[in-house]
Amino acid sequence: MSTINRVPVYVHWNVLLVPTALIVAMAVTALPASAPGHPTSVYWAAAMLVGVLFVVSLVAHELAHAVAARRQHIQAKDVTLSCFGGTIRFATDTRTPRAEFVISVAGPAANVALGLLSAVVAVVVDMVGAPNIEAVAFAWLAIVNVLLAVLNLLPGAEMDGGQMLMALLWRVTGDRRRAAAAAVRVGRVSGAVLVLASLTMFVATGSYTGLWLLLSGLLIISQSHDRHRASAGK
Ligand SMILES: [Zn+2]
Repeated sequence: MSTINRVPVYVHWNVLLVPTALIVAMAVTALPASAPGHPTSVYWAAAMLVGVLFVVSLVAHELAHAVAARRQHIQAKDVTLSCFGGTIRFATDTRTPRAEFVISVAGPAANVALGLLSAVVAVVVDMVGAPNIEAVAFAWLAIVNVLLAVLNLLPGAEMDGGQMLMALLWRVTGDRRRAAAAAVRVGRVSGAVLVLASLTMFVATGSYTGLWLLLSGLLIISQSHDRHRASAGK
């Protein structure tokens, strides 16, 4: 275990699964396809750079939550990095819907900012005439960060999107418990809709493009289920 800014950071063994898959996919197919003509070692070096910066992006996402929370006078208890990204726990609950929304939106906002920064780096690298592969690597980092933001904005109850939805419902109803319960229901229904849509797409077209929808739907449902169990256990 290590600490960042006095917040303990735990790392699950499976944290390397996604970066490793990303590095192999980039080195073997994505980079050679979009920037042909380089030695294999160059592809692996560029893919490793993207893999390392991907992990940095995951940490930046959780740090953004922690910094936003501290501004709302809420201390982060710990951060766990795993294959789904990260989870941050806080010492106390938020007291206002606004604080809840600001803390939840900070993580995806960090990924959008890093995505934009990576896109700018890709364009500048391309303009100064550096090897094409470096521009392509940063373009992929931009895409990966935008995907991270989108994935975290899905409305699963334990996900940032679900917490933002809960904050909005809390603001409207003035009742935190009811808002949390409603956010869980929305998470389950939207997860089920995504699963049905992806299965329909697979049956109708026979293509696997709906696989991401299926995985996203299952992720939302599992996250919503966890929150329900946690609140039912109290
Ligand atoms: Zn987050």
